[in-house]
Amino acid sequence: MGFDKFGSVSFTSEAKVADFVGYLEEGKVMATRCKKCDVAYFPPRVDCSNCLSRDMEWFEIGSKGKLLTYTEVNYGPAGFEDDAPYVLAVADFDRGVRVFGRLSREIAAGDIKVGMDLKPIVTNLPDEKVLYEFAAA
Ligand SMILES: [Zn+2]
Repeated sequence: MGFDKFGSVSFTSEAKVADFVGYLEEGKVMATRCKKCDVAYFPPRVDCSNCLSRDMEWFEIGSKGKLLTYTEVNYGPAGFEDDAPYVLAVADFDRGVRVFGRLSREIAAGDIKVGMDLKPIVTNLPDEKVLYEFAAA
């Protein structure tokens, strides 16, 4: 349990990384890092695909991100039809993880620039669901 509260449409209710949602409810966007080989993961993993260790730790992705690339979604996939148009983005965060997510609607289309500073924010959705987005920093 736990992962069913992530996002507006959830495709799974159980995951080894369900703690991710608990952290989101605390306002934190978290990634994991392998204690053995130091590789960081976002989305978080609890098993290291680099060295196969299970000795992982959680850490916040940080507050400083840079927009790497983005795309405007005009026709949402199943479950997201009513959300479109929205902007999907990839941002590099200062603690070493590359994060995929939505840009906040508070950023006007004309203000979106590759390289702009972003910070993660946690948004509460109906039915006690939570989602992270990127806002202008
Ligand atoms: Zn490892």
